Amino acid sequence: MGYLITYSPAYTLVPTYECFNRCSYCNFRTDPRKDTWITLEDAKKRLLALQRKGVWEILILSGEVHPNSSRRQKWFRHIYQLCELALALGFLPHTNAGPLSYSEMAQLKEVNVSMGLMLEQLTPELLKTVHQHAPSKKPEVRLQQLSWAGELKIPFTTGILLGIGETEEDWWDSLSAIAQQHQTYHHIQEVILQPHRLGSKQTWKKDGFYLPDFPKLIAKARDILPEDIAIQIPPNLISDSQFLMTCIEAGATDLGGIGVIDVVNPDYPHLHPDSLQAILQAKGWTLQPRLPVYPQYYDWLSPKLQTAVNNVC
Ligand code: SF4
Repeated sequence: MGYLITYSPAYTLVPTYECFNRCSYCNFRTDPRKDTWITLEDAKKRLLALQRKGVWEILILSGEVHPNSSRRQKWFRHIYQLCELALALGFLPHTNAGPLSYSEMAQLKEVNVSMGLMLEQLTPELLKTVHQHAPSKKPEVRLQQLSWAGELKIPFTTGILLGIGETEEDWWDSLSAIAQQHQTYHHIQEVILQPHRLGSKQTWKKDGFYLPDFPKLIAKARDILPEDIAIQIPPNLISDSQFLMTCIEAGATDLGGIGVIDVVNPDYPHLHPDSLQAILQAKGWTLQPRLPVYPQYYDWLSPKLQTAVNNVC
């Protein structure tokens, strides 16, 4: 049997690519009002085509409409309806739509089995560089989101983004802040360690994360984070399979949501889970699908969401 590593069989639905932030490493966004939002009809067609194909998680990943915009409510309603649609068609939604108001977060809890938001990095220094035009990336805003998710008992995924101009010390500070949140609320189910890789759309032309540092970082993250938090790494951002194994052996326990396209890093497509399984099996590992909510949090879900979980497993 050997060792186990998990992944989530997932499909990403993007309500809109428009985003009022302008992170200079972004390969996802379009300007506000320059994107046609996905319609419920189109979303339904895509989801119907995924039924009985082994997909469990629908990751609803959206660009952000400004909290003070007259279109914010319509944007939020649209995301809520996409979650309802995914649930009605037998999938488990997990939404990451940037910072939310407390009330928005509470409402989305009704239709999501888990939610997510990257802490990215705790240092305010990045507000002078890559986050200069990204008010949503203020560290205190993101920390508050983690606290609110904890207060609301939402199983939560967060993580750090690596290679955007932070220092090594910043990694440990950010991971310690996540650990502290979890010690207070016990709600962080997984932490993504996401190396930034250069993409074709970004305006910032630096190289991104220095991958040889990754195993060291993973091992120290395992020390800093409480044991019940899974450590997730995205395999498509690690092109060499031998090095992927080194990263797994350093302490990664999960490979995240795997679909065909990584919409955040479209230049780095995912391998099919069968190909990943072949790589892992050669080294005595087994790739195991998991749900977007970890078992220790099933009790936190409403009866309706618990039924949805039971229907999938
Ligand atoms: S990284 Fe996220 S928040 Fe920043 S511009 Fe891109 S979509 Fe917006």
